[in-house]
Amino acid sequence: MIPFSPPRMDQRIVDEVVDTLWSGWITTGPKTKRFEKMLSDYGGQKSTLCLNSATAGLELVLHWYGVGPGDEVIVPAYTYNATANVVVHCGAKVVFVDSGEDFNINVDAIEKAITSNTKVIIPVDIAGWPCDYDAINALVRRDDIRSQFIAKTKEQEQLGRILVMSDAAHSIGGVYKGKKAGSLTDITVYSFHAVKNLTTAEGGAICFNMPEPFDNLQIYQRLNIKSLHGQTKDALAKNQIGNWRYDIVEAGYKCNMTDIQASMGLVEIQRYNEDMLVKRKHILDRYASALSKYPWAQIPVYETTERQSSYHIFLLRIVGATESQRDSIIQEIFMQEVAVNVHFVPLPMMTFYKGLGYRIDDYPVAYDNFSREITLPVYYDLTDAMVDEVVRAVVRAVEK
Ligand SMILES: *Cc1c(COP(=O)(O)O)cnc(C)c1O
Repeated sequence: MIPFSPPRMDQRIVDEVVDTLWSGWITTGPKTKRFEKMLSDYGGQKSTLCLNSATAGLELVLHWYGVGPGDEVIVPAYTYNATANVVVHCGAKVVFVDSGEDFNINVDAIEKAITSNTKVIIPVDIAGWPCDYDAINALVRRDDIRSQFIAKTKEQEQLGRILVMSDAAHSIGGVYKGKKAGSLTDITVYSFHAVKNLTTAEGGAICFNMPEPFDNLQIYQRLNIKSLHGQTKDALAKNQIGNWRYDIVEAGYKCNMTDIQASMGLVEIQRYNEDMLVKRKHILDRYASALSKYPWAQIPVYETTERQSSYHIFLLRIVGATESQRDSIIQEIFMQEVAVNVHFVPLPMMTFYKGLGYRIDDYPVAYDNFSREITLPVYYDLTDAMVDEVVRAVVRAVEK
């Protein structure tokens, strides 16, 4: 069986983790802080806070920006449920919008969905392909959009407009007009979950890029405290001589990253561009060239002169297939010992969101993309021979 997405593992990662285990410090400490610094250098953002998941990062930022009941947050219908669930946790309203041909959020649909209650837009770089950030960033700064924004908190007043927080769970290393995901919007959130491009088993990070007069280091410190119960000192700081006394400034959360997780990330970030991204691009190129000769195969765009993907996953679409034909094709592919997947079932099709009154008929492009989509495996240890085997399995399944 060709698996779908095993993590890359080697002796360097094992050695770094073991080094942490014997170091006397296994929770948040020097390695997490070093990893944060390396992530800032890599993505070009002003500061980076590591956490135990992307979900925690998205939610902390919504709380920091004061999003709550009566507010609206714009989210693509086509994403993983974490992007929308965090909005529900805050008591705000999820406003789904449709996607484009490239799977990403449709900017015209965002514009139509904006109201005076809109506080945040969460674009998602599906498969690692950066959204059209020039258009999104220009939209929230437009005078007529700014003038209907109602600030309810100090942070909202200071920004004076809708916050753009990109969900870059797939797209660390993705590039838009020469800038990396991490520094394309006000705030960016990465995921280091086991199936993602760069993994720490579980983990995530918030990248801060807030404009003047915000102090990104200060926001980092605020959210760091929020991620540790609102406690003014973490365990490492309290360990210093005469430094035991601490205070609680809010009822915060508990979602910090451990140094065990950070050790995996430290190894991976150092070789990410030259090794991981090169490997993934090679796999996507091989799929694209093998499949493009079949008229039924719609190949995803993952590179133009202005944008490069992080080559996270390969979203094949079958031209003219119905949802049930696609399901049968997937069944056939599995019968040939190849694991594939679907990214994603649009959220308006999920029981919980249907129960809130959302209808998939309102998101026709998201549905069309989903109904014909099959995600092919992409991971570090996938060899050329395995890619060829996946292609043979797909071709046989479609032809059958
Ligand atoms: C994986 C994923 C997340 C959640 O990441 P966690 O680190 O597991 O919280 C959020 N958004 C998208 C689009 C994802 O694929």
